[in-house]
Parts: sequence; C-alpha cells; structure tokens
Amino acid sequence: MVAAFKERINKIDPDFIRFETLQTLQVNMGNLCNMGCSHCHVGASPDGKKVMERAVVDKLIKIIARKPGLILDLTGGCPEMNPKFRHLVEATADCCKRRIVRSNLTILTEPGFEWLAEFFREQRLVVTASLPCYLEENVDRQRGKGTHATSIEALRRLNRLGYGDEFELNLVFNPGGEVIPGSQQELEMAYKKELDNKYGIRFNNLLTITNAPIGRFREYLESKGMYDRYLNLLATHFNPEAAQSIMCRTLISVDWKGFLYNCDFNQATGVPITGAGGEILKIEDLEMAAVSGKELFLSQYCYCCTAGEGSSCTGALVA
Ligand code: SF4
Ligand code: SF4
Repeated sequence: MVAAFKERINKIDPDFIRFETLQTLQVNMGNLCNMGCSHCHVGASPDGKKVMERAVVDKLIKIIARKPGLILDLTGGCPEMNPKFRHLVEATADCCKRRIVRSNLTILTEPGFEWLAEFFREQRLVVTASLPCYLEENVDRQRGKGTHATSIEALRRLNRLGYGDEFELNLVFNPGGEVIPGSQQELEMAYKKELDNKYGIRFNNLLTITNAPIGRFREYLESKGMYDRYLNLLATHFNPEAAQSIMCRTLISVDWKGFLYNCDFNQATGVPITGAGGEILKIEDLEMAAVSGKELFLSQYCYCCTAGEGSSCTGALVA
C-alpha cells in the first residue's frame, strides 16, 4: 500500500503542500494535435475537439498584461494548431519575462505550417521540444513511424535559424515505459554527443520528465497489470529534496475553457482549483487561485514529481 502523497510531504514541511508565489502561467490551448502518441496524458489527436476560443484567449491576454514578468508556457495538444496561437503570442510579446512554446517538432514540417519556425524566432520564443530518445527506433515506437526523421528535419530547420545558439532550444526526454529517468546531466551529454555526431544538431538543455500514471499511460499500465507496481516504484524512489520544489507551488495551469488547475496533470484528470465555496476558479479568478498559502490539490500520481531527481515541466528538480 502506497502512503498518501500529501501526508508524506506535509510531514516534511507543511509549506510544501501550499502555493508559494506565481511565476509561471501554463496555458493548455486544447487537445488538437497532428499526432496521437501512446503516452499522451491529454489524449490529444487530429480529432481533438477541445480548442481554446478567441474569447478565452482575449481574457488571458488582459490578465497577462496586468501581471508583467510572468513566464508564459504554451502547451496542448499541439498549441501551434490552435487558430488563435499566433494572436496570443503576438499580443503577449512585451509583457512576459519568458515565453515558451512546447512543440512536438513534427508540426513544423506539416503543410500549411511552414511559417512556424521563423515565427518562433521573430517572437523570440523559447522552444521546448519533445524528443523522447536520440535513437530512431525508440522515438518511432513511442510517437509513430517516421517521427524521428521528421523531428530531425525540424531541429535542423531550427538550428539554421539560430536555435540552439542565440535562441533557446530545449529537448524533452521521457522514458518509453514504466521506469524513472536516469541522471538528467548524463542523459544530456549522451543526447548532445549522439545528435551532434549523427546529424550535426545543437540544442541547449535536455529536460527529463517522468511519465505520470494517468491518461493513455495509465490505461497501458492497467492493461498489463502494472499500475500498482509503477506507483510503488515512484513512491519507493521518493526524494524529499524534490518535494519542496514541485512545480505546482509556483505554476498555475489554464485549460482550453479558462479553468484553473495546479498543473497539466491535474487538468488531464479533472482536478481543478476551487474557491472557498467549492466553485471552480477561472482565469479571471487568477489572484484567488495564486494566493500564497493556498492548499494544493495533490493526488497519488504526484509521486511522479518527486521520484529520483524529481520531475517538472522544466525537467529534473534536483539534478
Ligand atoms: S505530440 Fe504531444 S500532445 Fe500530441 S499526441 Fe503526442 S504527446 Fe500528445
Ligand atoms: S502532479 Fe501536479 S499537483 Fe501533483 S505534485 Fe506534480 S505538479 Fe504538483
């Protein structure tokens, strides 16, 4: 029996189960995607119907303008496929400390999206791109046949535009199955060596992310009878040092309708941030959701954030 995550970190320090201060607003623009990966925790696909509309985008723009200095982190699905992606990016150019687009890379090579790479550079976006392995067979197994070759083509295009040098390009590694990522630093060295030697590709940082046992990945674990074993593995490798840095202490996640969550995983599992009366908070209630000391909505899958070196949208927590 795995101990309750919340109690475990509460025992270390009661502050660890509470919101600290807002640094990052992560915006999930919906579940439309040109791919349909086996590990996708938001169940995205080309048939995704949850698409953030202009009214929500405009509310976001107003709120971001009132809170200068935030990190804006755009995700999905494939955020670039949202018809309002361009509008959101252009309208937030002057008010954020840093703007990140989480790209699956393959979208850069799709017909109709040829403008994207230049647009990223023009807008000085940080590109954080999924490349779950440097080996072709592993990428193709997890993300579909031909994905590795397309991703390499997209990375070359970004390198030609100065990404990996003048502009920040980060790659994301997540394991192909029910294991905890190894050392982020060592893996980064291996990625850099392999990608440079084989393809002449440069990037800045590798971010390791542990698979959360939710969504398609949970279904896979349950179908193999491995869900309990994986949760146990995460709990056994609980790292108290990572507990104080869980990303939900400084991040708020927004869904396609404008509802607020402690993170994208809570969004995927339908655990929103609620107010004192139990009402679900929306983007216009951001001040209320991001108040220092507000209790976080924690679950058992949170163990994925504290296993080994820890895990977050910006990679390992204690690497
Ligand atoms: S590219 Fe990302 S969002 Fe799209 S299906 Fe794969 S994991 Fe999900
Ligand atoms: S899964 Fe989300 S809510 Fe849980 S610890 Fe990680 S970031 Fe926080």
